[in-house]
Amino acid sequence: MAAERDTAAQEPADPQPDGAARAGLLIDWGGVLTSDLFSSFRDYCLRVEIDPQTLRGRFGSDPAFRELLIALEKGELQEDEFERQLGPLLGVEPDGLIDGLFAGVQPDVAMVEAVRRARAGGIRTALVSNSWGVHRYPHDLFDELFDGVVISGEERMRKPSRRMYELGAERAGVAAELCVYVDDLPFNLAPAEEMGMATVHHTSAEQTIPELERLLGLALR
Ligand SMILES: [Mg+2]
Repeated sequence: MAAERDTAAQEPADPQPDGAARAGLLIDWGGVLTSDLFSSFRDYCLRVEIDPQTLRGRFGSDPAFRELLIALEKGELQEDEFERQLGPLLGVEPDGLIDGLFAGVQPDVAMVEAVRRARAGGIRTALVSNSWGVHRYPHDLFDELFDGVVISGEERMRKPSRRMYELGAERAGVAAELCVYVDDLPFNLAPAEEMGMATVHHTSAEQTIPELERLLGLALR
């Protein structure tokens, strides 16, 4: 009978016995599909001879740094203006500051391949990223990897705004409860979890990929 024909062969991968497979993958860019941002920031600080702890600490707790960062991520502040304001706070040359901070950031080949395989296996995918300017992203790669893209500087809002995650699910074309969300910053996972998404706190491809294989019911390596 036609209904029975080749259904097993059409299964994208081995569904896991310990839970229903998710149908959508929403994923962060910086620090998840790339190498660690903070190690690139640290290298920059060492190059320009400022204390790496100062940079990281002040983005976490200094209101002037926080305001600049939030405005940049929401696209309210242009990159050159951000650099012009941040440079003096750090005591560094503003020109090329963002490029300098991101100089050591490379795509994480294993993670990129996992997303590619997930999509090829029938999982709907979307990027959900807070941006430091929108032109550094590899847009060609995004066409290949994602059904939808949500970039904070284009949406005029940022994670952890719940709407960012809703847009991700909408653009992936999957109900939020059927999505997995991956981020390297734990506080960005909270809204996704509240919306019923499975969440993965990314620290390394070695840990994240097996977890995604389990959640999506697909081989991703
Ligand atoms: Mg990140």
